Amino acid sequence: MSDPCILCVAITGSVPTKAANPAVPISVAEQLESTHEAFEAGAAICHAHVRNPDETPSSDPEKFAQLKEGLEKHCPGMIIQFSTGGRSGAGRERGGMLPLRPDMASLSVGSNNFPTRVYENPPDLVQWLAREMRTHEVTPEIEAFDLSHILHAIRLHEAGTLYGKLYVQFVMGVKNAMPADKQVFDFYVEIMKSRAPDALWCAAGIGPAQIKVNEWAIAAGGHTRAGLEDNVRLDRQTLAPSNAALIRRAAALCEKYARPVATPSQARQMLGLRPV
Ligand SMILES: [Zn+2]
Repeated sequence: MSDPCILCVAITGSVPTKAANPAVPISVAEQLESTHEAFEAGAAICHAHVRNPDETPSSDPEKFAQLKEGLEKHCPGMIIQFSTGGRSGAGRERGGMLPLRPDMASLSVGSNNFPTRVYENPPDLVQWLAREMRTHEVTPEIEAFDLSHILHAIRLHEAGTLYGKLYVQFVMGVKNAMPADKQVFDFYVEIMKSRAPDALWCAAGIGPAQIKVNEWAIAAGGHTRAGLEDNVRLDRQTLAPSNAALIRRAAALCEKYARPVATPSQARQMLGLRPV
C-alpha cells in the first residue's frame, strides 16, 4: 500500500468573489459549512483566509478566532492552517492571528510577481513571521512560487529558523510566476528528495492547472491542495459547485493511483503536528 495522500482544501483565499462563483464562502458561517463538506469528502487540512462582509480580504484575528473555534467543533481533528499571505494585510498584520496557535500557517520566504503586482516578502518580515510561528508552535507550510523559495526554505529549516517539520508546497500556474510546467515540477521533486529527504512536499495548481497539478503530485507520491481559492471551475464551462466537489476530484485521483486519502490523524502524524 502506498503512502496516504494529504488533501488540503483552500476554501476562500483573498481574491475570488461570489461574482466569480457564488459557492465561494465569505462569512465565517459559510466557511464552516463549506469546510465541513470538504472534510467529509477527505480534506485533512483547511487552508483559510478571512474576509470582510463586503468580500474584501481581512486580517482580523477576531475573525480567525471565530473560524478556528467553529472548525474545532464541526470538523474535529482537521488541521487548521491560516494564511499569512500578503494579499490579506500589510507587514506584521499578516501574522496577527499566530497567537491563536493554529496547527499550521502558510509562509512565503521570497518575493515574486503576481498577476498585477509584486508579491513582497522582505527578509526581515519572513524572519519575523518564522519567529512568531516558533513562539506559538505553529508549523509553517512553505509556499514556493519559485525554485529559489524551495532552496531558501531548506536553508532556513537547517538553520533552525522554522518550527517543526519542513513542509513545502509548490505553487504553479500563478500568472507572471512559475507556470504549471511538468519538467520544473519533476525537478522540484528531485530537489526535495536529494536536499531535504526527511521533508514532505505538496503541490497546488491555479485555475485550470489545479487538476493537472493534483494528478502530478498524487502520482509522484506527494500531497496536494484543491479548492475555490485556487480555482473556481470544474472545466471551462462549469463552475465548481463547492469546495467539496474539488476535493472529491482529487480524492478520485488518489484512488486512480492507489493512494489512500490520509485521515486527519494520519496527516497530523505525518506532519509531526500535535494530536487532538
Ligand atoms: Zn491562501
